[in-house]
Amino acid sequence: MQATSYWHADAREHEVIVIGAGVAGLSASRELAHRGVDHVVLERGVIGGGASTRNAGFLMRGAADNYAAACRDFGRQTARDLWRWTEDNLALLRDAGIEQLDSYRARASCLLALQQTEAEQLEASRDLLAQDGFEVGWQTAGDDALWSSDLARVGLINPNDAVCNPAELIRWLAAPVFERIRQGLAVHDLEPSGDAIRIATSAGDYCAKRVLLCINAFAPSLLHSLAEHIVPRRGQMLALDAPGVRLDHAYYINHGHEYIREAGDGVIVIGGCRGLFADEEVGEADHTTDNVQNALEDFAASTLSRRYPVISRWAGAMGFTDNALPMISSVPDTAEQIWFCGGFTGHGMSLAFKTAQAAVAQMLDGTPCLFSRELNPIPTPPTSRTSP
Ligand SMILES: Cc1cc2nc3c(=O)[nH]c(=O)nc-3n(C[C@H](O)[C@H](O)[C@H](O)COP(=O)(O)OP(=O)(O)OC[C@H]3O[C@@H](n4cnc5c(N)ncnc54)[C@H](O)[C@@H]3O)c2cc1C
Repeated sequence: MQATSYWHADAREHEVIVIGAGVAGLSASRELAHRGVDHVVLERGVIGGGASTRNAGFLMRGAADNYAAACRDFGRQTARDLWRWTEDNLALLRDAGIEQLDSYRARASCLLALQQTEAEQLEASRDLLAQDGFEVGWQTAGDDALWSSDLARVGLINPNDAVCNPAELIRWLAAPVFERIRQGLAVHDLEPSGDAIRIATSAGDYCAKRVLLCINAFAPSLLHSLAEHIVPRRGQMLALDAPGVRLDHAYYINHGHEYIREAGDGVIVIGGCRGLFADEEVGEADHTTDNVQNALEDFAASTLSRRYPVISRWAGAMGFTDNALPMISSVPDTAEQIWFCGGFTGHGMSLAFKTAQAAVAQMLDGTPCLFSRELNPIPTPPTSRTSP
């Protein structure tokens, strides 16, 4: 093994250790730094190497599906709180200076219905949102590339949303806490040791009073007790060289299963089609597949009315929860020393900045929030007895 130079010698004991340097881990680190808490971030790859630089860069209000579906699935109060949470998330990012990024654009998002049933749900969503005091727009015609395809029926507009290049967002989030991030250092095991946690890594042991896991899709492979709560699913995207194609909004189509937007310089990015191959699109692997990529190309050709050359293809692993809400939880049987923040169910760029702050508040101050969950301890297997 290569010896670590004196200059890289690192303090091994900290108040808090964050695992994972994606949008959640970096947001948590910024919050800890703001509170003056001694901590480091351990990242097995490079900063943002997980889903956080492999997404579409939508900073959207709400969840993947529409507000009427959320009221049905979560109840009206939780849906309302979730929508406000995402609005607050973007407001907090703006307060922190996200508008300085070259790639940041204030850009209304549009939930676009191609089918009558979804159109009816969007109409109901529009009315519910207005009743609950949210700003909402409505569109029945347009002349950008999507509306010109004649497939679009109606669009529900979230007027105050934004988009950005997620890689630039991650560099910006990391900059003030860069000195605290240890890259290329995989955590293999976590073990309670007295009033601390021993963290076994590819570069030796670390130790902390508290550990915050921000590893989203990858949580089950580190802590098996999280496997029943977090399911890793793959999302795939591609970029098209489509000079002159105009899209007036960042579009969510088919209940958010497909998404498409301009990325500047004549490039259109599009993602989704995982629902067509749901059984194949599970697990942590972040390679592309022909099935999904071909489906994405076909979907792009039908909605943009012609085929454009593909200039890039990629995939990322997302953590889904059973109730489709993010999760802040202490890990059972760890005396509230190990915490998890994740399960963003495909929406972490729009949720994680505020959610990570809330996770730090709960871990350090005991303040619960909308996404706090108590996980049941893992039942101890009965001890086998020899018959008398
Ligand atoms: C194709 C695609 C499109 C998407 N589009 C959008 C979008 O437009 N808008 C939106 O809001 N969301 C979108 N998402 C979802 C969003 O990207 C994720 O919810 C978000 O990035 C999750 O951030 P995270 O920090 O929790 O996890 P990640 O970014 O996955 O970070 C986890 C980190 O933990 C590290 N790690 C894992 N295991 C270990 C270990 N044992 N030791 C040390 N480090 C470890 C990983 O290397 C990784 O860097 C999309 C996702 C995909 C895949």
